[in-house]
Amino acid sequence: MTAESSHKFIVVGGGLSGTLVAWELEKRDVEYEVWDAPKGKAAQDSHEPSEPNSSNQASRVAAGMFNPVSFKRIVEVWNAREHMEVMRETYLQMELFLKMPGKILHHSPIMRIFPSAQYKILWKKRVQESHAVSQFIEPASDENLTDVIAPHGFGIVPEAGWVDLPLLLDSFRSFLESKGRFKEKTYHASCKENHPSSKFIDCRGVGASEELACHNLKIQSDHGEVLTLTSNINTKNRCLNRVKWLLPRGNNTYKLGSTYKWNVAKSLPSSEGREELLSSIQPVLSPEIFDRFEITNHETGFRPASKDRRPYAGRISENTYILNGLGTRGVLIGPATAAHLVRYIMDGKELPHEINTDRYFVEQI
Ligand SMILES: Cc1cc2nc3c(=O)[nH]c(=O)nc-3n(C[C@H](O)[C@H](O)[C@H](O)COP(=O)(O)OP(=O)(O)OC[C@H]3O[C@@H](n4cnc5c(N)ncnc54)[C@H](O)[C@@H]3O)c2cc1C
Repeated sequence: MTAESSHKFIVVGGGLSGTLVAWELEKRDVEYEVWDAPKGKAAQDSHEPSEPNSSNQASRVAAGMFNPVSFKRIVEVWNAREHMEVMRETYLQMELFLKMPGKILHHSPIMRIFPSAQYKILWKKRVQESHAVSQFIEPASDENLTDVIAPHGFGIVPEAGWVDLPLLLDSFRSFLESKGRFKEKTYHASCKENHPSSKFIDCRGVGASEELACHNLKIQSDHGEVLTLTSNINTKNRCLNRVKWLLPRGNNTYKLGSTYKWNVAKSLPSSEGREELLSSIQPVLSPEIFDRFEITNHETGFRPASKDRRPYAGRISENTYILNGLGTRGVLIGPATAAHLVRYIMDGKELPHEINTDRYFVEQI
């Protein structure tokens, strides 16, 4: 256990992890600043060898969705209720603080299109048997839909939605800049020597993977692609889910995502990725809708994922803490994890074992 109060904190990384940690520090009125690498510069400045270890900014690519349900087996995700509550409270507080109520946290129920009759039976069973997931799902529906094809019916997850991450990150960064607390700066290991009395909180996502690997904290760089498109489909503000998802973002704009691949060396939009996304959603859309999709953007990035799909939070050296490994669910699990980390640093509160770096940490490999 540890408790810190008199040191200046340097948060490295201006993605979702860094922003959430900075927000926790801001609430406590402690001295801190945030460093983020200039766009596209971290790779060359930090001499990182390959794209996954460089200037990746997953938070700028992410659709920002949150969903308390895992559709594979129709169960609630890890710590769903706690994470949903902390998440909602955090983003709502940040919206108010940044003077943009209603702009960052968005409600968009998920319409899970049932892939088979057996799946529908399982969904109904979960509801009838009051399974823990039943607090997050509505009874199966057979409603006829104009633009969507769902021969086995569908189920709704009413509490799902999305966070406008670019807006959140940019707005918080503007706030930091106005207080002189933001630096466009690339971190190197030698930075610690130049700031001996500072405490670093490293939130570099995949940019920290080499350093963390030395401590047995493996960061897997899971590659993903997302399309932005315009369409006149009417989903009633619902996000369609059928293997992939189609998320409404307002003004006839939708995000279609996302692919999931390991061992990708360079993050680039691919025609395979584009086809995979389009062909996965095509079967549930009427041809009139699908044929009129207009693709306006194609983005890619690496998700920083841990060994066991739980975040890494904790201390890795005398003056360095980390928050990393937010994986595919950063929006949902990030707020509670950042709050736990800052309580650990500032108040000496024990970290939950599931997220504590101690579960894998070794001094140096
Ligand atoms: C295609 C795709 C779709 C996704 N969709 C979703 C979704 O819908 N919902 C969801 O919850 N999650 C989603 N995710 C996952 C989500 O993006 C991550 O969980 C989250 O954004 C990770 O945030 P981070 O701050 O840890 O990493 P990043 O966002 O990558 O931030 C790391 C930051 O560190 C900076 N940095 C790196 N090296 C240095 C250095 N040496 N010096 C200074 N700064 C440095 C970078 O510039 C960057 O700003 C998706 C990810 C991808 C790739």
